[in-house]
Amino acid sequence: AAGILKVKRRRNSTVRPTSIDYDARIFSFREADYTVSLSTVRGRIRVPVGVGDYQKQLLSGRKPTSAVVFKTRQGEYFIGIHVDVETPPPDFGEEHGWIGVDLGIVNIATLSDGTAFRGEPLEQTRTRYHNTKRSLQRKGTRGARRVLRRLSGRERRFQQVVNHEVSKRIVERAKVEGKGVRLEDLSGIRDRMHVRKSQRRRHHTWAFYDLRAKIEYKCALSGVPFEVVDPRYTSRRCPICGHTEKANRTSQREFRCRSCGLEANADVIGAINISLGGAAGRPEVALVDVEGIAHSVDSGETESSYNPPSLGCGS
Ligand SMILES: [Zn+2]
Repeated sequence: AAGILKVKRRRNSTVRPTSIDYDARIFSFREADYTVSLSTVRGRIRVPVGVGDYQKQLLSGRKPTSAVVFKTRQGEYFIGIHVDVETPPPDFGEEHGWIGVDLGIVNIATLSDGTAFRGEPLEQTRTRYHNTKRSLQRKGTRGARRVLRRLSGRERRFQQVVNHEVSKRIVERAKVEGKGVRLEDLSGIRDRMHVRKSQRRRHHTWAFYDLRAKIEYKCALSGVPFEVVDPRYTSRRCPICGHTEKANRTSQREFRCRSCGLEANADVIGAINISLGGAAGRPEVALVDVEGIAHSVDSGETESSYNPPSLGCGS
């Protein structure tokens, strides 16, 4: 898999266009002091790059030969350094199980083992952003518009931090348990979302794709099998008896099978059905302890394993 690293430059540069591609003739990276050498209209320059532990690990011992330099509207410079990362061959047997991941808004991600990654703190932050935005929009000045653009950038970066953490935990768990990760196909997720404001729907759609991309990428890096399944019927099919009926889903939160009486959290049922292969899957009682999972969710025994941090958003 090819990776791209974004590292922040510290000082101003003479590079003019908003983005410029560099190849081996005009770009080089030095690991000893984490600097890059770049050709510019004013000649060759050497500049330090801000790298975190993750980037250092990826750059270790490599001689990257291409990069892209970006300039943001705020005049900050970023450099994306291309590195080729060897993907470890999956060491999973044919018989490994799957962790199903159901994506949502109240819970960003619900796993087939009943773990929920809560989205509420994130929504609170979004509401704060939203209020700040509204007052800025009313102002309508050039300065206000500039702050607005910066805000939506910060909002996305914040969501990316959360998605990075959630995807990391999901893939780590899959690796430890020797399971693959199954996710629903996201085409059509826009229509299934019960969010009225189109701006919010756009944000959530983007957030789902971002989380999916991060899960897929991390699976590839750690050799964890990854599959996308057809999500049809996953919210209305009983994973124990296979009975499929819209009325099985009694509310946004609850699932009650009208044939066998199974009661469980609706998101967990969705995740279990995804782990079983989605629309193409078959109910498999032996594979999942649905009753136990349903109980642990409803009694609150399953702690949400990740609460996103809240982030202030001063203008
Ligand atoms: Zn049933």
